[in-house]
Amino acid sequence: MSIPRRIVEALKGIVGDRWVLTNPTDLVTYDADGLQTHPAPPGVVVLPENGEEVAAVLKALAKSGVPFVARGAGTGLSGGAIASDDSVLIVLTRLNRILDIDPANRPTVGRIYFQDSVESSQHYQHRIV
Ligand SMILES: Cc1cc2nc3c(=O)[nH]c(=O)nc-3n(C[C@H](O)[C@H](O)[C@H](O)COP(=O)(O)OP(=O)(O)OC[C@H]3O[C@@H](n4cnc5c(N)ncnc54)[C@H](O)[C@@H]3O)c2cc1C
Repeated sequence: MSIPRRIVEALKGIVGDRWVLTNPTDLVTYDADGLQTHPAPPGVVVLPENGEEVAAVLKALAKSGVPFVARGAGTGLSGGAIASDDSVLIVLTRLNRILDIDPANRPTVGRIYFQDSVESSQHYQHRIV
């Protein structure tokens, strides 16, 4: 891992120890997305729980000049969610709550506000009403 220890500690201070992964065994889970031919484990994985934590993580990384990659479900087929070992992978699978539904605008806009990974859960069924 080539991410400085102080960055890891800063991330843990934001999301909690449990949601910052540095163990090589844990990182293997995130070494590829839908493109399986170029596996590369990230330096660190961080799993924020809400928008405030995402903003705080981004602020900490930007301040330190540490590169990062966003990952949703990791189903992209072009390797866009693969991060090198000098980067932090921000995994958004904990953003799994529906925040608001606006049925009045459904026919024209279909405004449903949900956190990123709701689409990959059974809650997504409620979107098709
Ligand atoms: C079997 C299969 C079938 C598919 N069929 C279709 C299809 O029919 N139509 C279609 O359009 N696509 C299809 N795809 C492609 C895939 O579903 C899309 O690429 C999907 O949008 C990826 O979403 P993800 O959350 O998994 O993103 P990821 O794979 O995690 O990321 C994709 C890219 O988006 C970036 N990213 C992820 N989350 C964020 C974020 N919150 N903010 C900023 N950037 C972010 C990543 O860095 C990466 O560059 C298919 C994929 C698979 C595996």
